[in-house]
Amino acid sequence: MTYPNVQLLINNEWRPARANATIAVHNPADGSLLGSVARAGIADLDDALVAAAKGFQVWRNTPAIERSKIMRASAGLLRQRADAIATMMTMEQGKPLAEAKAEIGMAADFTEWFADESRRVYGRLVPPRAMNQQQMVLKEPVGPVAAFTPWNFPINQVVRKLCGALATGCSMIVKAAEETPASPAELIRVFVDAGLPPGVVGLVYGDPAEISNYLIPHPVIRKITFTGSTPVGKQLAALAGQHMKRATMELGGHAPVIVAADANIAHAVKMIAGAKFRNAGQVCISPTRFLVEEAVREEFVAGFLQYARSLKVGNGLDATSAMGPLANPRRLAAMQQITEDAVSRGATVATGGERIGSSGNFFAPTLLLDAPLDSSVINNEPFGPMAAVRSVKSIDEAITEANRLPFGLSAYAFTSSIKTAHQLSAQVQTGMLWINQAAAPWAELPFGGVKDSGYGSEGGPEALEAYLQTKTVAMTSV
Ligand code: NAD
Repeated sequence: MTYPNVQLLINNEWRPARANATIAVHNPADGSLLGSVARAGIADLDDALVAAAKGFQVWRNTPAIERSKIMRASAGLLRQRADAIATMMTMEQGKPLAEAKAEIGMAADFTEWFADESRRVYGRLVPPRAMNQQQMVLKEPVGPVAAFTPWNFPINQVVRKLCGALATGCSMIVKAAEETPASPAELIRVFVDAGLPPGVVGLVYGDPAEISNYLIPHPVIRKITFTGSTPVGKQLAALAGQHMKRATMELGGHAPVIVAADANIAHAVKMIAGAKFRNAGQVCISPTRFLVEEAVREEFVAGFLQYARSLKVGNGLDATSAMGPLANPRRLAAMQQITEDAVSRGATVATGGERIGSSGNFFAPTLLLDAPLDSSVINNEPFGPMAAVRSVKSIDEAITEANRLPFGLSAYAFTSSIKTAHQLSAQVQTGMLWINQAAAPWAELPFGGVKDSGYGSEGGPEALEAYLQTKTVAMTSV
């Protein structure tokens, strides 16, 4: 397959930037040049804003059932085009083809769930204090939204935002990641091809800071939504606050995995080792800090090691690869630094800990043992194929350590005790907790964090609330 030169979408027209500027796109499996993406300037952003303002007026006045039909048709088209889009995603992002296809299948499932939910955006009638009165609570779309999405799930990070906006009658300008531009463009193409009116969705790429600094304060934009790192999220949230814009922030995590002495260890390894190395660990809910009770540590580590060593790492287009390269050279450098820091402080590398080969961003599945509490891997999200195991003497100690960090996106636990499960659900400071199972980031469940991991939800009915504003109307007949 030839990789496309990706264009901007403005007013349902695919076009280059006005200044014809572009950014190069590289293949993380070998560093080769894949193609380019259009780099929007301020004039292009102005075009996108005019289109989004018009698109909002059209879409908010489109009956929910019609919006729902277009969304359902989009999901169908996405499934039809899944194979071709998955290949593009693997070429630009690196993940194995099977993971790329699964991501697209999940995006179609999301779109269908939100299409259905869009027909259930209810207001309410409140009993009045006099019989000639009526009191209504109306839910209205907040307005044109600016969305900023990262490169780790090029399609799903867009679809979670776009579907919330479309289901409620908002328009949206998406700034997807410049490093992985083709697959999100293909996602948006299915919505346009399925009948989305001009201006309802726009797609731009360029300099992330220039675009966010221009769009967030702009009067047309009424809400922003961002997925990415905590430092950038804090900057964007501050700018949104300055301009009184609504904001949803899906930021970094550092998920603890608490393994109790009474857990079924074979089951725990089966659930969590695969999850650790999915997308080469570049997942905001990736399990990262393993807090294992001493009695089961040896068994857990042995099972985990066996899995990590058996993983075939290679080009994602090769059907036998179970893990692909890291998405960009920055992550490769970060993995090397994190490993060196841990080892210099006394940790042991049980497996991995080094780059594979000299071409492409391949890093071996890594398990670090006994990294001290002040090491980087224990305190900063590794965002790569790296797990750190520490022993704990009790569940209380594990909970204290889990809650010590400023992050609170997701957490995992394995136990056969209902008492421990209750204690964990009450005491772990997190937006999502999965007990005895892998993550469940389904459309129908709220997805989001607490503390430095951000605020707002991108799943469940809460995901629609995020794009709605409330209007109270009270009327008296005279
Ligand atoms: P980064 O902080 O430079 O960028 C993260 C994302 O934010 C990218 O998509 C980038 O394009 C965007 N971004 C950066 N500055 C921006 C700005 N001023 N305005 C708008 N968007 C901006 O980091 P990176 O090297 O790309 O990724 C590394 C870190 O980012 C990881 O360690 C991880 O913590 C975080 N990250 C998180 C997620 C997630 O799913 N929550 C996804 C990707 C990256």
